[in-house]
Amino acid sequence: MDLYNTKAELSARLTAENRKGRRIALVPTMGALHAGHLSLIQIAKQHADLVVMSLFVNPKQFNSGDDFKNYPRSVEQDAAMAAAAGVDLMFAPSTEQIYPSGIGSGSEAPQVTAGSASRGLCGAGRPGHFDGVATVVAILFNIVRPDCAVFGEKDYQQLKVIEQLNRVLHFDIEIIPAPLVRDQDGIAFSSRNARLAPAEREALQLLPRALFKARELFWAGERNSATLISAMQATLASSPLLRPEYLEVVDTELLERIEKIQDRAQVMAALWCGAVRLIDNIRLDAGEII
Ligand code: AMP
Repeated sequence: MDLYNTKAELSARLTAENRKGRRIALVPTMGALHAGHLSLIQIAKQHADLVVMSLFVNPKQFNSGDDFKNYPRSVEQDAAMAAAAGVDLMFAPSTEQIYPSGIGSGSEAPQVTAGSASRGLCGAGRPGHFDGVATVVAILFNIVRPDCAVFGEKDYQQLKVIEQLNRVLHFDIEIIPAPLVRDQDGIAFSSRNARLAPAEREALQLLPRALFKARELFWAGERNSATLISAMQATLASSPLLRPEYLEVVDTELLERIEKIQDRAQVMAALWCGAVRLIDNIRLDAGEII
């Protein structure tokens, strides 16, 4: 695996690879790699000849300075994991490389405004977050110019925001969704899990349990979103360490709230576990009922 810290060096290499007719996949990450990220690499390898992983903790998408400061960083370990998983090129730029005109509120740099998919859910609780995501993804798309890019369904709303960005701004990159990967205890892999105390980690198991409960009720024939949400609330209320931010049942594309579910829906959840904010989601699909 080759590591690049500057846009100029990466671009020179990618120009050479493009000349050889190589199909290029991009896997954007903020590092602190885990099994979820590794699954994205495997999917990228199935779709391309060359896998580029970016590793950049994007200051523009954090709406809390503390969250940015405390975000886990482990560049050397990440490079070793990425190389072992088959990443060909890693791009780990500085903030100046990505935002040469700065990021402060006084900065006159243009930025991307995320579309309608960004409005509710995490967009409501984290103002500016998805604009920061859309801006950095547009920058990475322009630097790497990949044929395809892989994004995890763990961040389901982010995936929809990026699909919309790609379509409306004509990037014409194939966006490949990757299934959410869970640990043995059901908890979705997330870099922020590293910040949980053992008791918090244990309490967090209630989150996947609540989502699985909602899916069981759906499979048993329940179609009323309010009933599913109440059942999830009851499960989460059994630990004082969890403070739900939202629990919603939305349609799988526009992410608009649904009251009565037809054939499919996405259950979306965000909560605070101690000082850490975490998200999770699950698909309800009548076609999956056995
Ligand atoms: P992050 O480093 O958290 O910004 O995530 C980078 C990419 O990995 C995003 O496309 C995420 O959706 C994806 N990802 C993170 N956690 C998981 C997971 N548990 N399962 C699947 N994809 C994930």
